[in-house]
Amino acid sequence: MIRIAHWIGGSERAGVSGRVGPVFNPATGEQTAEVDLASAEEVGQVVAAAKEAARAWRSASLAKRATVLFRFRELLAARSPELAAIITSEHGKVLSDAAGEVARGLENAEFATGIPHLMKGSFSEQAATGVDVYSIRQPLGVVAGITPFNFPAMVPLWMCTTAIAAGNAFVLKPSEKDPSAAQFLARLWHEAGLPEGVFTVVNGDVEAVNAILTHPDIAAVSFVGSTPVAKYIYETGTAHGKRVQALGGAKNHMVVLPDAEIDAAADAAVSAAYGSAGERCMAVSVVVAVGDVADPLVDAIAARLPKLKIGAGADPESQMGPLISAQHREKVAGYIERGAGAGATVVADGREAEVPENGYFLGVTLLDNVTPDMDVYADEIFGPVLCVVRARTYAEALDLINDNEYGNGTAIFTRDGGAARQFQFDVNAGMVGVNVPIPVPVAYYSFGGWKASLFGDTHMYGPDGIHFFTRSKVVTSRWPDPGTSSVDLGFPTNR
Ligand code: NAD
Repeated sequence: MIRIAHWIGGSERAGVSGRVGPVFNPATGEQTAEVDLASAEEVGQVVAAAKEAARAWRSASLAKRATVLFRFRELLAARSPELAAIITSEHGKVLSDAAGEVARGLENAEFATGIPHLMKGSFSEQAATGVDVYSIRQPLGVVAGITPFNFPAMVPLWMCTTAIAAGNAFVLKPSEKDPSAAQFLARLWHEAGLPEGVFTVVNGDVEAVNAILTHPDIAAVSFVGSTPVAKYIYETGTAHGKRVQALGGAKNHMVVLPDAEIDAAADAAVSAAYGSAGERCMAVSVVVAVGDVADPLVDAIAARLPKLKIGAGADPESQMGPLISAQHREKVAGYIERGAGAGATVVADGREAEVPENGYFLGVTLLDNVTPDMDVYADEIFGPVLCVVRARTYAEALDLINDNEYGNGTAIFTRDGGAARQFQFDVNAGMVGVNVPIPVPVAYYSFGGWKASLFGDTHMYGPDGIHFFTRSKVVTSRWPDPGTSSVDLGFPTNR
């Protein structure tokens, strides 16, 4: 049995807590490894190593940091097929999707190579006579990332590239369900010449998370995961004096207006709902069909479903892989039952699909005539289940989204530029797509939702990422002419 250890001080370090967790291959249902689960004491050792490393790393020149980032980027690009295969073996998503995840993470490394420019402050000459004022941004010290199972490489890359480039030491607590991608990233950082202790991985569960949230030497926590945990992380971390950004779950609506191109909208709905078996925080889980577009749209989506190839992620023919675990598959299947019981029309039932026998496979489900009072609408299912809600008007569709608990991503499909612009203006969500079903922002913007999809005020990566992982200092300086000193007890003004 493979044992997945922590990564501390430039090498693997076996855990000593005596607790381990199982890691499975979701395509076969076999346990492939066990991962060490850290105790609070082990987290303390990791943080101590990171604290030591942070002191030296913040003094490394911007040029030196950028050089490490460039090397890391090159290594990541060269070895992305290897990393994609690791992701597929523990997460289950198909290889092309895993490669896509790595490619999006790579963009964050590319953004962070520009750190000399990103760390620039501002300068005001002669704010008062002989007085200059300027701002600088400095790293926080030791910062931590706690990440979900569904993007085991991309989400850590969202955080660590920016945090490290900005001069912090970064402690990663990856999901215990698929921890090997984090180990792989640690090796790449090491090979890229990052000093020991600047990137560390501590594997674990709630015990490690709580140790991170309460550790006095961790200045900031960046979290991505489900909403109840995100809320807990935000409240506990901030109560312990930390800066926290905690991204949570989602229920993303795709509005289709009557003038939309039906085939394009159906293609988009199918790929955004069922890609990665719906285990994406930006997955479209609700299509809001406005007016008489509903019948032809549901027919067009339904017609595409029998053609989807479901199978092991490592098989290049597969378009959709298994779910992460047996329990999760049961939970998702239970929602299909509840939707049907509540009166939704089951157009396609994933439980009846032909799928490989072993592993955690579930076919795709399409539920029509879903109403907001149903559990299938209210809850984040996080599986290959697409709900169609029928709305009479644009205003009704908009109210549905704005009344929803979550506000991560949303999209509108239309040929009417004016309608799209109005939607962008009206809608309460952090990321909006216009004829783009999964509007994940490019690396030089920032990623984040509204409402119960994000606790905190800065979004992830891009300019907000730099802001989150640094703090600003403003310097007011005067170099008086020699021999002109005098005592003035008044409060300084610039008059
Ligand atoms: P999760 O909340 O179960 O776990 C996330 C992390 O928190 C893991 O590292 C886990 O070890 C830890 N954790 C789990 N339970 C905990 C607890 N009770 N106390 C403290 N720590 C705990 O999430 P998941 O199942 O790994 O990931 C799926 C969820 O993440 C979905 O809800 C999805 O929408 C969300 N997600 C959101 C985004 C986003 O950007 N908003 C991106 C990806 C995933």
